[in-house]
Amino acid sequence: MAKLTIHDMKVSGKRVLVRVDYNCPLDDAGKVADDSRIRATLPTLRHILDNKGKIILMTHLGRPKGVDEKLRLDPIAQRLEQLIERPVKKLNDCVGPEVDKAVNKMKEGEILLLENLRFNPGEEANEDAFARKLAILGEVYVNDAFGASHRAHASVVGLGKYLKAAAGACMKKEIEGLGKLVESPEKPFVVILGGAKVSDKITVLDSLLGRAATLLIGGGMAYTFLKAKGQAIGGSKLEADHIGTAHAILEKAAKMGVEVVLPIDHLVADKIDPKARIRIETGAISDGWIGVDIGPKTLQAFEQKIAGAKSILWNGPVGIFENPKFAMGSQAVAKAIAKAVAVNKAFAVVGGGDTAAAVYKFGLAEQMSHVSTGGGATLEFFEGKDLPGVAALTNR
Ligand code: AMP
Repeated sequence: MAKLTIHDMKVSGKRVLVRVDYNCPLDDAGKVADDSRIRATLPTLRHILDNKGKIILMTHLGRPKGVDEKLRLDPIAQRLEQLIERPVKKLNDCVGPEVDKAVNKMKEGEILLLENLRFNPGEEANEDAFARKLAILGEVYVNDAFGASHRAHASVVGLGKYLKAAAGACMKKEIEGLGKLVESPEKPFVVILGGAKVSDKITVLDSLLGRAATLLIGGGMAYTFLKAKGQAIGGSKLEADHIGTAHAILEKAAKMGVEVVLPIDHLVADKIDPKARIRIETGAISDGWIGVDIGPKTLQAFEQKIAGAKSILWNGPVGIFENPKFAMGSQAVAKAIAKAVAVNKAFAVVGGGDTAAAVYKFGLAEQMSHVSTGGGATLEFFEGKDLPGVAALTNR
């Protein structure tokens, strides 16, 4: 890797400022509902603890504008304590006298968690004064927050100016795993795109056209493409103002010789509800029915393409997988990818928050080559953009 990593840096006895991405979903009781982002940072934290460093953790949670009592980091600290099996001292601010005092008293092997960075407007504004206040808390800086590295915020890009900045173990894994598909994917490269909206994925679609041999499109976004081809889609998800975009992407793909496979049949429901009536429809979708998952013939076509792939990228579930009745397509896609990895030695990356959640839910995450912790950051990486948080790391 061209950037410094935590393994290149001396952390023993040092105050190590670690930017993590603990922007975890919380349940109705305010407890962490999915701790995969915390788990992803454990190798970095254990490395620092094994080397007798002092850990000062920084993260944001949600999108507060100023202090928001519901977005304090106490539930995050509690979950981290359980996972790392050590006390985690959570502070009530991220800079200021209380923080300075706690940091000065730190001993080797201790963990402090600063309060939600976004309570301070300097974070999102990338204020130099705020970055400097954070920087003086530590002696070295580690960025393990891949999921936040597309944001030019103070804790992501501002600290590299003042401290040596290294990639944490999770960040390194992300850059190497995703980098392999961006730089030199072994061919054939098959991409499965799904999720709710075309509008979120236009740029990535465009950049993938130059690299992938086949695009398999499912999920809510498929219906805008089908509409662009003149097909009836009933009450399925439609972004009417993006029909033209979908049309242009299909035309460009045809010109470039990229195969685009759209759903030929669908699981349709009369409402998006666990008690909905469901049936399979081929081709046009009837009025009053909503496409909620890919149908069996589509799945077969997808499976066949996935089985022949050497490189695979999956972003976006192909159905409303949160409802078990509509999850079969996404689960079968995950299984087909796992099989391609096991049998065909394909390199498969699963990216995007919801897709990662889906493979964890299906118990198939371990069988993927890499499951990315990022959402927007993963997509921007695939668009070929330089992520500000990666650029800000110290070069080797
Ligand atoms: P994204 O974050 O763009 O990957 O979108 C993920 C969301 O897309 C999930 O919450 C799915 O429920 C949703 N989704 C998948 N298939 C459909 C569909 N056919 N109609 C509406 N939403 C869908």
